[in-house]
Amino acid sequence: MAQIQEGVNGPDHYELDGKAVYLLGSQCNACGAVFYPEQPVCGRCGHRSHEKVRLGPNGLLYTWTRVHQSTPEFKTPYVLSYVDFPQNVRVLVPLVDNVEPKVGMEVVLTLAPGPKLSSEGQFMELVHVAPATKEGESR
Ligand SMILES: [Zn+2]
Repeated sequence: MAQIQEGVNGPDHYELDGKAVYLLGSQCNACGAVFYPEQPVCGRCGHRSHEKVRLGPNGLLYTWTRVHQSTPEFKTPYVLSYVDFPQNVRVLVPLVDNVEPKVGMEVVLTLAPGPKLSSEGQFMELVHVAPATKEGESR
């Protein structure tokens, strides 16, 4: 079963490679468990040595919920989803706006506006997921 990790998907927790977005996690050197965000100590076996690993860019939407109330910086409603990545880790990631979520849909990591940073309408870019499109298909 995938490890469930809370999402901390700001600038310190992702990496860009061309157009691809990856979340940065850690993989234990002793037991191989993968965590997000990066953990100094393995949550499964307590080992203190790990490698940084990239999660994504594609995953499967495990489940989701629509958030109607949040702190003032976040525009509501928005969809929060749990995404299973091939690295065997489940991460809480918001879904981009104007997409109808479906359990099991293939998604891809992307950057989208997150919380409002100022009253002038500046937003912090956060990692989200969007529906994955097939090669050559237009969105
Ligand atoms: Zn371990």
